[in-house]
Amino acid sequence: MRTQMWINGVFTPGTSGNSIDVLDPATEELIERVPAGNAADVTAAVDAASAAFAAWRRMPAGERTDLLHEVARKLTEKTEELAVLLTREGGKPLVENRDEMSWSAACFRYYAEISRNIRGRVIPSVESSQLNLVLKEPYGVVGTIVPWNYPILLMAWKVAPALAAGNTVVIKPSEMTPLSTLAFADIFDHLPPGVVNIVTGYGREAGEPLVLDPRVRVIAFTGSLETGRHIARIAADQIKKLHLELGGKDAFIVAEDADLDVAVPGVAWAALLNTGQVCTSTERVYVQESIAPAFIERITDYARGLRLGPGLDPDTDVGPMVGATYRAKVESQVAEALAQGARALTGGRRPASRQRGYFYEPTVLVNVDHSMRIMREETFGPAIPIMTYRTFDEAVRLANDSPFGLGANLYTNDARRVKQFYEEVQAGTLWVNDPLTDNDAGPFGGMKMSGMGRELGEEGLDEFRETKHLHWDFEGGVKPWWYPYTRQG
Ligand code: NAD
Repeated sequence: MRTQMWINGVFTPGTSGNSIDVLDPATEELIERVPAGNAADVTAAVDAASAAFAAWRRMPAGERTDLLHEVARKLTEKTEELAVLLTREGGKPLVENRDEMSWSAACFRYYAEISRNIRGRVIPSVESSQLNLVLKEPYGVVGTIVPWNYPILLMAWKVAPALAAGNTVVIKPSEMTPLSTLAFADIFDHLPPGVVNIVTGYGREAGEPLVLDPRVRVIAFTGSLETGRHIARIAADQIKKLHLELGGKDAFIVAEDADLDVAVPGVAWAALLNTGQVCTSTERVYVQESIAPAFIERITDYARGLRLGPGLDPDTDVGPMVGATYRAKVESQVAEALAQGARALTGGRRPASRQRGYFYEPTVLVNVDHSMRIMREETFGPAIPIMTYRTFDEAVRLANDSPFGLGANLYTNDARRVKQFYEEVQAGTLWVNDPLTDNDAGPFGGMKMSGMGRELGEEGLDEFRETKHLHWDFEGGVKPWWYPYTRQG
């Protein structure tokens, strides 16, 4: 297991001498310790990334393509090892982490191919003696700050396009899941030293110095709204380019024509995947009142039938939450909702059978409304609060009644409802009849307080490219609009 930082192609224990305990959320036991990186370590990593930039940006596109394909190949080869490691430190069931590895490899393959095809454009000139080019170029050093819920996938969504565009990178993984990212030293080690660097550490001690280093031209961050706001504040003095993927409160609308055989497991999956710890987790469900009784009964049975357990147990459907503070947040939102009149049809507590580990039962809540915190703030846990609606207009209004706008889901086969949904719902990704499916070619990101910028697709590449406009006049003579000059002439 790799437990040291990786800077300029060399493993290092860092300068502070301090370490971070990495715990198994299913047992609360120590797995390993990693260095608690600090400003000096970040400076060393940015030194390396800056030095590597000149050669990396000039590398012919085809060579970069091959190197990125090699990342995908090595990642695929190590899928099982990485998935087990990630289950141990993050808690997600093994099957979900295998998927995370294959999606991450696909992302590297997608941007490997994009890298081969990077281009600017020729635009019409004002006069025939001129050439006008729109050029795209890398920024330089990109800092990526990643959360614990999809540590590899969200790293890949940033690092793959940043490298494809010709930038070099410093990665700061979450302090809760650094081990799977450190294992990437062996996956990136065919790249020139310094092109990718990994610094472990806490947000304040290692994340902030990365944001504050003036040589880091872009910060690509995924994490909570609070941290995103803080980063925006401290980056403002440098007018640093920020790419922020923040929290969500995704709505799921179930229309009256929905097939409940699909909608029940679909909504449950969207709400409970990774124990509800997905940025696009379904956190609010709106069901048309004519089908609500059947839907609620069936989703309650479904949630009750799920098996809780450690992610490495093949019988586990729902793993532990990642840590005590995250579980406490769900508990407090549920308790507050119950005190305000909500009813828990199942769950609403820790499982009696599991004394160790950060487990929380899948929870179905009814009698909820938008005055409750559980319908307004991000929960990030296994809760499914359900409201009913009468008209589709009402469902759209409820879906939009949120400061967040990351994703939204709909089950229907009625084209008029789909049209109203995609025209009126304010969210960066809209899924109809296929919740939470990512597409490497499709941009992903949030509206409103869910962030700014997009990952994936061509938009995801453009976040890491500066635009230059070249205006070149081959004749370059005196122009009539230089009035003082022409008067004198
Ligand atoms: P977090 O904000 O606590 O931490 C995210 C990262 O930021 C970690 O690496 C952390 O060390 C670092 N960090 C913390 N304080 C920092 C500081 N002052 N300066 C610089 N870096 C700092 O988030 P988390 O708990 O790890 O992740 C959960 C959150 O991430 C949820 O809110 C979730 O919605 C969000 N998320 C969003 C998306 C998306 O694409 N929009 C995807 C996944 C997760």
